[in-house]
This record gives sequence, structure tokens and C-alpha cells, in this order.
Amino acid sequence: MESGYGKSDQTFLRNYNIRKVRTILREEGPCSRVDLSVKANLDKKTITNIINEMLKNGEVEVVSKSSNGAGRPKENLALNGEYSRCIGLDIGGTHITGVVLDFTGKVLCEHNIDVVNNDSDILFQLCDLVMEELLEKSKLSIDEIDKIGIAFPGHIDIRTGRTVLSENIQGWDDLPILDIFTEKYGKEVMANDCSRLMALAELRYGAGNDERNIIVFDLGLGIGCGIVINRKIFPGSTGMSGEVGHTIVKVDGSRCTCGRNGCIEALASGWALSKQAMDLLKNNESPMLSKTINKNTMIPTTKEIVLAAKLGDDKCIQLLKNAGRYVAIGIINSISIINPSKVIIGGRLIRDNDIFYDEMIKTVKKDAIPELIKDMKIEVSALGDLATAIGAATQCFEEFFEYE
Ligand SMILES: [Zn+2]
Repeated sequence: MESGYGKSDQTFLRNYNIRKVRTILREEGPCSRVDLSVKANLDKKTITNIINEMLKNGEVEVVSKSSNGAGRPKENLALNGEYSRCIGLDIGGTHITGVVLDFTGKVLCEHNIDVVNNDSDILFQLCDLVMEELLEKSKLSIDEIDKIGIAFPGHIDIRTGRTVLSENIQGWDDLPILDIFTEKYGKEVMANDCSRLMALAELRYGAGNDERNIIVFDLGLGIGCGIVINRKIFPGSTGMSGEVGHTIVKVDGSRCTCGRNGCIEALASGWALSKQAMDLLKNNESPMLSKTINKNTMIPTTKEIVLAAKLGDDKCIQLLKNAGRYVAIGIINSISIINPSKVIIGGRLIRDNDIFYDEMIKTVKKDAIPELIKDMKIEVSALGDLATAIGAATQCFEEFFEYE
């Protein structure tokens, strides 16, 4: 070729430019062609060609026209949500939450089922139920859904699509999760670790939107985190980064589900709190908890422990404060390793749980290296209980965009 570039180079460049334009539209909202040309650093002819193609295939639309009185009015363009819709399923140890997300990142509808028995067979059936409800609520057929994203609470080998270990769902160890869901729904399926997907959602649509380097802590039945470096999720070499819950902070501490002792998860997660509260009940050390607990299950939930603490139960207050301090150590250690500009705290463990949360933040501020947290922000998740499900769907759209 005379130009020195092959056709494949030109195609690569064009696709790169299209992804760049989409990203500007997604992050900055409606733009005119002139705005896009400046922001994407592309000449007007290239932008006109790209926009014509995007208008033709329906991924952008003209949302308004503005005129300065002279010449043709300027058309403002935006991404068209209807161009693609994906479903995100957050399969947790205590819940299954689903959303339908459109191309612009708008949540069209959501559905949640609390799970009491997290046996693997019933979980598959509950996933079907959430899917049905989502389609019903969004008035979409499965044919109008492009992909399904799964968030999974355990290790997934992203190279093979198999679960490696699931501590919080019985019977989901070594499962070809991608193949199972692909066959089930006849759609392309993507799956990743739930904490990492929570981080992805916060990065693209939530509290991490303006940041480049963040850590998002997912505090729930288990404990994990998602690491974002230069606006991209850091997966690790086999997709198992962010296992902050399985960092050992107490030598010879309580036994963990991973088979070792003294992990943060064994000392401060939802399941660890439940176990510690059971010991309190057994030893008759918490009269208030024996009143707030569900008598049918006799397994204390975080909600019941928090309630007993709020009613003045000293042992439960102590239990929540200890957990807050152990999680804080995990946060402090992660800050020392990554040096993020913001730490985001999400997950169901912090819901209405001020005793735990305040102790955790107090410890971080007291014990972290002062220079590292001087300008660092700590915020609660902006997307709340939907964060992981939104992240599960968001992973399906990532290939359309370009983050530098
Ligand atoms: Zn562990």
C-alpha cells in the first residue's frame, strides 16, 4: 500500500475512533459534531463519517437542536439506549439481584430475591425466576436482550470460565458457569467476581466516575475488593485479584472457609459475625440477641445483631466494633499497596450498620499512613444494593468503549 498502512490498520484505527466517540458520549452526555471533533481530537470529516454510520445503525440519536441564530442549527447527539440491552445477575450467598441495563447505562428495571437456602439447585431455579421477572417488568423478550452478565461470589478462572472455589454457595465449586448459563438462556454470557463487578459499576456510573485509581470494598456475607488502575479493572494474572478478605491479619485466628486461619473474612464478614453471635447465644451472653433473633432459624443475621446492638447489647456492640477494626486493617493495607485517590465502601454489611461503619472509618483515619490518606477520599457506594448487578451487566458493554 502506498500509504504504508494495511487495510487492517485502517479498520483498527476506525474502530478505535468509534469506541472513543461512544465513550465521550457516554461520559459527557449529548454533544454536537463540533464538540466531538474537539474532544476526540479528530477532524470534522472523520467525525461526520463516524456519526453517519452510528446514526444509520441506530446507536446514536439526535436529541436536540441548538441554534446561535446564524447558519444551520447544531444537532446534539447522544447514545441511544435501545441500541443494546443486557441483563446483569448478581448471585450472592443471601440474595439474587438482577437488572436490565441499556446502552446508556440506565437501569430499566430491577428485581431481587432474598435467598435463605443457597443450595446450588434452588439457586439455578431462582435465577430463572429473576430472569422472568426482569423480562416481564421491562416488557422485553429474551430476543431483545443481547448478553447476560453474571456476578459470582467466589473465584472464577477467567481463562476457562469455570468457578475455582465458591465458599459462600454450596455445590458451586469447579462449575463450568459460563457454559451452564449460555446453554440455559441461549445467549452470550460473561461472568466475573462479584466484588470486581461492583467496582466496575462504581467506576463507570457511581462514586468512582471521576477517579483513575480506586479500590472498592465489597462487604457482605464474604469480603472482597475490586482494584481499578488507570480507569481499568485490574484482574490479576488469572483473574483472582482483590482477595482482601483472605489476607491473614491474626495469626492463629478463627478458621476461614479457605482452609486457613485468621483471614479478615473469618473475623469480620457477614458469616463470621453470624458465627460469633451464635457463640454468644450458646453461652447465654446476649439476652437482647436472643430476643431479636428469628426463632425458626436460630442463625443470627447481621440485621439482628445490629438491632440487638442498637438496643444496647454490649456484647453485640463489641462484636460489630471488632469487625469494623479488622476490616479497617484490610483497607489500610490495601491503601498502602495501591495508593488510590478514593476508597469506596459497598455491600450489605454496612446497611444501617453505623456502629461497624464508624469504627471502621475511625480506625482507617487513625492507623493509615497519614501521607497516603491526606488527599484520599472515602465514600459509601453510590449504587447501593444494585451495584454488583449493574456491574454484571456493565461488563457486557465494555468492548464498545475505549478508556485511556
Ligand atoms: Zn480465608
